[in-house]
Amino acid sequence: MPDQIPTFEELPLRPELLEALTSLGYEEPTPIQCAAIPPMVAGHDLLGQAATGTGKTAAFALPILEKFAAGDRGRLPTALVLVPTRELAMQVSQAVHRYGRGLGARVLPIYGGQPIGRQLKELSRGVDVVVATPGRAIDHLSRGTLDLSDVAVVVLDEADEMLDMGFQEDLEAILDEAPVERQTVLFSATMPPHIEKLARKHLNDPVRITLGQDKSATGGTDGPRIEQTAYVVTRQNKPAALGRILDVESPGATIVFCGTRNEVDELTETMNGRGYRAEALHGGMSQEQRDRVMDRVRNETADLLVATDVAARGLDIDHLTHVVNYDVPSAPESYTHRIGRVGRAGREGVAVTLVEPRQHRLLKAIERHTGQKMSVAKIPTVADLRARRFELTRAALREELLDDAADLDRFRVVVDSLSDEFDLVEVALAAVKLAHDTTGGDVEDEPELPDMTLAPPGKDGGGGGGYKGAARTGGRRPPRGGGSGDTARIFVNVGRGAGIRPKDLVGAIANESPVSGREIGAIQITQNFSLVDVPADKVDAVITALRNTTIKGRKANVRRDARDPNG
Ligand code: AMP
Repeated sequence: MPDQIPTFEELPLRPELLEALTSLGYEEPTPIQCAAIPPMVAGHDLLGQAATGTGKTAAFALPILEKFAAGDRGRLPTALVLVPTRELAMQVSQAVHRYGRGLGARVLPIYGGQPIGRQLKELSRGVDVVVATPGRAIDHLSRGTLDLSDVAVVVLDEADEMLDMGFQEDLEAILDEAPVERQTVLFSATMPPHIEKLARKHLNDPVRITLGQDKSATGGTDGPRIEQTAYVVTRQNKPAALGRILDVESPGATIVFCGTRNEVDELTETMNGRGYRAEALHGGMSQEQRDRVMDRVRNETADLLVATDVAARGLDIDHLTHVVNYDVPSAPESYTHRIGRVGRAGREGVAVTLVEPRQHRLLKAIERHTGQKMSVAKIPTVADLRARRFELTRAALREELLDDAADLDRFRVVVDSLSDEFDLVEVALAAVKLAHDTTGGDVEDEPELPDMTLAPPGKDGGGGGGYKGAARTGGRRPPRGGGSGDTARIFVNVGRGAGIRPKDLVGAIANESPVSGREIGAIQITQNFSLVDVPADKVDAVITALRNTTIKGRKANVRRDARDPNG
């Protein structure tokens, strides 16, 4: 597979976009980008099955930007991207902004929970790309503050999620407002019948793209024995998590794969700071620099090679014991390609993969491809790390004690003189401390990393397990997301009788208020009303937001629950 990947330069993208991609450190397009960019730029409608982490945001954002008019653009948006949650609205609009910097792209996220005034001001000043949650888009349309008459592209991102959150009617209404001759692009992680139906109705002879559906157990994993482990960790905790995993694993030579050049450079610096001898290798380096790095790896003066896929292609390092996927590769084929570098010549190898809570589908696709399940392990805790460091110190001391050539007797004069003043055990303790400091030292500045779980579709993954709609209809349940604070209970005068399910409430709150899905606590739904626990400090914002929106198409009466035990 590596051979037929086109470069970004071979895709129909203007120089300003190529420059942006270089400055972000992207080395080559992901499969979804290779497949989606040419037809989208050519103006076709597109139906793409792709999960988070495959690079789908750039796959639709780059063609949108490619189609920008040269020179001055008008005041009205030419592209509308609809996403299920406010988190995604922010994330996607930041991505479009980054890719479109060289074109002066004006991007505006619009979602509930943010003062509408700012959005109005930006809209009237002129915007190229609007990234919106359906609820807020409808709000603006009904106020007449969002004008879709110049929209040439509409993207429905994570369409399955939007339908699951009850946005079907909103989506239909929005699509009806956009010009009929527009281009429509729909991305969804899954393709259930209601997505197919939506696509049939609103897409015009779309190009279909399906990735990661390969069910065959291929790849180089059946020969060598490779132990495959995944660790669930948020993006910002990755450097600390990797350091800790390596500290506990004590690997031999290791190659760490990163997605971009910038990530390679940053991680190399971090790992050097942690006492590893790490070397960076990426496509931005000269051949001479790369040769020097490879020499240091081969003669074992470096223990970590941090590299992009492109730079590591064709490298053969035979004493590798570990492969680390610092990023889950966007294609299952790259995964097998990467991990096939260990476990050569009948030796056992270890593959470690850091996975973000939302990337569970990508992990599943890899498991399908390799035909093997990955075990999900817990990131070593501070206590594990401390125990491991003590073990290293103890082993080092034991080795000295057993080593006939160590000539420990010459230190007797030191011990003897101290023993006049101190107990022998105390002297030993002080000596152990000094030895310990040289084998890694204390773990005092290590942060505790939260225990994460893989999120089910569309959720962010939280401190204490994923979101399961049915489980929340029952009794009380503590709020998630590491919430240490108080909760308050909200009364909503719609319930089962109105067809309300937990996800309707979660959707409305997560989209329209500053409370994220993870922060929502217990939900109780009775025939005629519902009760929802939210963080106490945000209860007023949630009430205001819910009063200003609709839940399953209904205006609801919302107030603080009079029987709130905390309120
Ligand atoms: P997405 O699937 O759109 O959420 O993207 C997942 C991650 O991959 C994001 O952090 C992007 O910045 C990154 N990414 C997207 N395309 C590429 C690429 N061609 N090379 C390296 N990283 C990429």
